[in-house]
Amino acid sequence: MPPFRCPLHSECVATILVTGGAGYIGSHTRYFLEKRGYSVLVVDNLSRGYKEAVPAEQLRVLDTRDGGRMEQLLRDERVDAVIHFAAYISVGESTQAPELYFENNASGSLSLFEAMLRAGVKRLVFSSTAAVYGIPQTVPITENEPYAPINPYGESKVMVEKMLEWLDRYREFRSIRLRYFNACGAEPEAGLGERHDPETHLIPLILRAIQTGEPVTFFGNDYPTPDGTCIRDYIHVSDLAEAHIHAVEHLLRGGQSEVFNVGTGTGHSVKEVMEAVERVTGKKVPHEIGPRREGDPPVLVADSQKLQAALGWRPARADLDRIVSDAWQFAQRAR
Ligand code: UDP
Repeated sequence: MPPFRCPLHSECVATILVTGGAGYIGSHTRYFLEKRGYSVLVVDNLSRGYKEAVPAEQLRVLDTRDGGRMEQLLRDERVDAVIHFAAYISVGESTQAPELYFENNASGSLSLFEAMLRAGVKRLVFSSTAAVYGIPQTVPITENEPYAPINPYGESKVMVEKMLEWLDRYREFRSIRLRYFNACGAEPEAGLGERHDPETHLIPLILRAIQTGEPVTFFGNDYPTPDGTCIRDYIHVSDLAEAHIHAVEHLLRGGQSEVFNVGTGTGHSVKEVMEAVERVTGKKVPHEIGPRREGDPPVLVADSQKLQAALGWRPARADLDRIVSDAWQFAQRAR
């Protein structure tokens, strides 16, 4: 399929601005947008992203809270739609300093939306999270599950989701909110993968344990699950990136605002992830069992039927060994 033509200027392809495009999910999405033929621009303040993850000519080192410059950029570059990733993502940090999350994630998003409204750009894909559900009442989780965040990170995303609901209603500002489950994997051929500092996510920590010999701690083995460890829905970052492309194309076609879960619908326990790593790498994972981590629900699995039915998206890389293999290739290159 050819890239979407710009709805305003039919001679050119659409221009998509990616905020936070030097981060993990943003850099993969930027890569797939470019592959599909879009004109892409990245705005990132590089506070937590990596400039090597973005071609220099596409990168604007800028903070989305700088409303004046954002408005100018949106106008000058004739941006058709924005995919908004720029945010802090650490649950633990958000409990240490909630104000950071309300300022950067909630207030920062509002500045961006104001700049977009002034520039007349009214299509946005928003990077949301399963953390808006907190501890869900039913699993697999559908989008009808109520907002019930249990940490400031999740709350900051709920705040932005609510802004978008009102902006849709009163300002014809159309958005797709994508609630991700556990993003993982990599695109090693493109030199892209997961590099958080500090790293808190399971798969990179298990791979690091193999590389360093330092044991990884598994948080609890007495959960009410078949093997006692927590179950999560691990979604390949490239499948997530493709969900953003489906979402932005829905908006470019004039589609209505929507909210979608993005997951595979299949859960894997911490122990199963460890076993997959051992199969893929052929090495034993040094590990120890620690206490439960506060706020970890036993099972989080997405029902993403709505996204599949509405936009035709499918998780093409859902196999756990494939996910681990891509992450492992990236981890070996990144060392
Ligand atoms: N986990 C773990 N040890 C770690 C990091 C994570 O046992 O060092 C577990 C965590 O309790 C959860 C799963 O791995 O059950 C995924 O955690 P992660 O932090 O990667 O993502 P989250 O589910 O918090 O978004």
